Amino acid sequence: MLFDTEPKTSLSDLFDREEEVEKLKRGLNERLILVLGIRRIGKSSLILSTLNSLGIDYVFIDVRKVYDGVTRKVYIEKLLEEIYSSLTRLSKKEYIRSVFEKIGIEVEYPVKVRIRGEAKDNLSKVFEALNEIGLKKGKVPVVFDETQYLKYSTLGLRPFFAHIYDYMKGITLILTGSEVGLLHDFLGLDDPKSELYGRYYYTVELKPFNEDKSKEFLRRGFKEVIVEVKESVIGEAVKELDGIVGWLVYFGKLYLERKEGAIEEVKEIGSNLVKEELKELEIRSPFYLLILKAIASLGKAKWKNIMDYVTATTGRKVNNATLYRELNTLMNMGFIEKVDEEYRVTDPIIRYAVLK
Ligand code: ADP
Ligand code: MG
Repeated sequence: MLFDTEPKTSLSDLFDREEEVEKLKRGLNERLILVLGIRRIGKSSLILSTLNSLGIDYVFIDVRKVYDGVTRKVYIEKLLEEIYSSLTRLSKKEYIRSVFEKIGIEVEYPVKVRIRGEAKDNLSKVFEALNEIGLKKGKVPVVFDETQYLKYSTLGLRPFFAHIYDYMKGITLILTGSEVGLLHDFLGLDDPKSELYGRYYYTVELKPFNEDKSKEFLRRGFKEVIVEVKESVIGEAVKELDGIVGWLVYFGKLYLERKEGAIEEVKEIGSNLVKEELKELEIRSPFYLLILKAIASLGKAKWKNIMDYVTATTGRKVNNATLYRELNTLMNMGFIEKVDEEYRVTDPIIRYAVLK
């Protein structure tokens, strides 16, 4: 169902995105694929639906699940558990079990992980086993969803990714990131100091739907459940929520439940979600929110407009270098974008959340 709020897992539930699906399929022979786009744009859905449609075995690791927002750490036990529970979905269970047993890892169902020896050794062993499976039975895509959170791991996983890239030809790495800049910082593909420097990577980028597509998405979703909805309602929803499919899904679902006030409700609930995501920024520096507010209230803002706003609000001038740096971080995290020297907020709900 189109208005299902879980990530889609089947192409029959995936609206549009034919080009991106084909692009992802074509890339599956590469060493490294990056799937990029802001939150709720459909990255996880694209990957799951595409890989399921091919009927191949793959591993899907939701890095958010292994990241603890309070301690800001990534726990290796949790990472291994995620990997193991993903393995249980593989079809060639017996074969997989035998490969894992050969390297001394017992896969128990339901998944329980007890680490013996060094955590990193365990991780290497798992990947060696996956590689072996890939070499014998066809490449195994290994997806790290929202990879940027791995930068909080104390294990130093970048050399590990470089090792997979260089030596494990049975594995295709698929990394997604909502915080595109942070993902790039973590991987360092363009940073001479990084182990991954200069490696070729294949990119699939997801953009919001345009106005027509967004309207078509809502019409199709309502048609699927045989509910008639006025064009004016659809127009209003798209005007307020833009082409971010995650919000459109949410609207569709709420509209089916209560009709009146569905848009407002999406904005309310959505902005609470966004506020949680912005918390991390607040901890880092009070200026981030102020800058976001400046851009949000101006709609589109040039560098000077932002500086004026911050100066007027705080009564003191921020250092130029500081403002540049903070704007860059906001862009890296996908909260704002820069088009023709003007900054704007990428998502109307973020805009709503900071202005509320
Ligand atoms: P991301 O991984 O980029 O944050 P998700 O894949 O979780 O995004 O999608 C966000 C929401 O939008 C989910 O409810 C999902 O079901 C829905 N969705 C994403 N892409 C599509 C699509 N192409 N067609 C229908 N629903 C989609
Ligand atoms: Mg996702």
